Amino acid sequence: MARKFLIAGNWKMNKTPAEGVALAREIAAEAGVQNDVEVLVCPPFTALAAVGGSLGSSQVKLGAQNLHPEPNGAFTGEISASMLRELHCSHVILGHSERREYFSESDAFVNRKVQTSLEHKLKPILCVGETLAQREAGQTSAVVTTQMQGGLAGVKLESGDQLVIAYEPVWAIGTGKTATPEMAQEVHALIRRLLVTQFGEAAGARVKILYGGSMKPGNAAELFAQPDIDGGLIGGASLVGRDFLKIIQAAQERAKA
Ligand code: PEP
Repeated sequence: MARKFLIAGNWKMNKTPAEGVALAREIAAEAGVQNDVEVLVCPPFTALAAVGGSLGSSQVKLGAQNLHPEPNGAFTGEISASMLRELHCSHVILGHSERREYFSESDAFVNRKVQTSLEHKLKPILCVGETLAQREAGQTSAVVTTQMQGGLAGVKLESGDQLVIAYEPVWAIGTGKTATPEMAQEVHALIRRLLVTQFGEAAGARVKILYGGSMKPGNAAELFAQPDIDGGLIGGASLVGRDFLKIIQAAQERAKA
């Protein structure tokens, strides 16, 4: 069975609850009544409840941008997996390069979060990707392999549908520079091989691998035409309803092709 595209919006530290509800309603009005493509919005924690409520019975799913691996306790400012489950989150973004860079998150810490989210039936979207200096030094494969093996150490899956990987070259995030479809596919193929090695042929083939990094309506279709690109994790363009909807449309067209 073919993998269904997943188009995920990472709103980062943008949108108040009221602004988030307005954007979610715009997205759900069009993308919430179709099933060809999975659509996910990931607002900041403060907007999760309001946005989730506004999605109602639409097909658009709700995700979070982070969690803490412990179930509860003295972790000021942190949010647990069960808190996210109670707000009906289906996914959680983990190991985003901004968390790795600004909050010094290591592969080992990201791994604990991945384990916790799976225990709570939250699908982790594990982000991996190299910096420009690493790419220029020819280290892309080594960096991505280390992040994959570290982030997924000891992880067991009942099915490949429980996990999502996002390949996000750091130099392409928010910069307007996009990896060419061929550059992205090369890394996605490596990620697929690593998934198959760890989880076996069947489960490894089911895991969705998203591309992220300045994805826009103008470049989405060519990226979706690659065999191992199963959707997008979208920052800037997910904050503009029309742009996000156009990227969803590009995935729908590809799914039907
Ligand atoms: C992201 O940060 O996940 C991202 C892909 O951002 P942008 O689309 O703005 O490059």
